Amino acid sequence: MKITLLGTGDATGTPVIGCSCPTCQDALKGGKSQRTRFAILVESDCGAVLIDTGPDLRYQLLKHGTKHIDGVIWTHGHYDHFAGFAEFHRVQYNVDVYGLPETLAYILDYLQFLHPKKHERQLCEPFELIGLEFTLFEVIHPPVKKSVGVMIREGSTKVVITGDTQRDIPKMSMDLIMEPDLLIADAIVPPTVEVKKHMNTEEAFDLAREIKAKEVVFTHLSHFFKPHERAAKEFPLGYDGMSFEYTKN
Ligand SMILES: [Zn+2]
Ligand SMILES: [Zn+2]
Ligand SMILES: [Zn+2]
Repeated sequence: MKITLLGTGDATGTPVIGCSCPTCQDALKGGKSQRTRFAILVESDCGAVLIDTGPDLRYQLLKHGTKHIDGVIWTHGHYDHFAGFAEFHRVQYNVDVYGLPETLAYILDYLQFLHPKKHERQLCEPFELIGLEFTLFEVIHPPVKKSVGVMIREGSTKVVITGDTQRDIPKMSMDLIMEPDLLIADAIVPPTVEVKKHMNTEEAFDLAREIKAKEVVFTHLSHFFKPHERAAKEFPLGYDGMSFEYTKN
């Protein structure tokens, strides 16, 4: 399987409209400091699935050269995680969408002019898509009542995406996500900035240690980090277009 971080920005993206901080200035030049909103592409021999569909989806799919999507999994009903779904409209009809019942209900109410094929899924119950096994696990992202992370497995390979979450992930989820080959963790700010609803880099590192992740990459990144090339010396920061490939085993 191949995992591509299509968008590694937070809700505002970087550059932030109206901001003249060094990171936003750097982002305006178009390098790795530039971050579009959240979306992850998961590809296998059998197809492609999106984890979340942030508002920059059209640009991301064009840039990546993605021709067809076989399914969408939504982690929670925040605008920066679903609003780009409408970008498929008229390109692909009847897209299969997956998520918790309450998440699907919220998002599809907002996007009520669209009629995707709805597939309700429950926490901790694995389901198969494009030959890979996906499992939703509960995370904590107030005020959203039910927010999930996604675990993906193929053979002995295990990839964990935290989605938006605080550090206090429930035990049931922690037991499930132990020892991943790759942890893609929400780490919205460096530890110098106070944050609620998300993890900072220290907390994301701490999570990676606790679950014994073989590799960790941070995403959902804000402009509070230094420009990418400098910040990436301190933290394992993802960037738009970064990908990870695992051979079938
Ligand atoms: Zn978010
Ligand atoms: Zn800025
Ligand atoms: Zn969120």
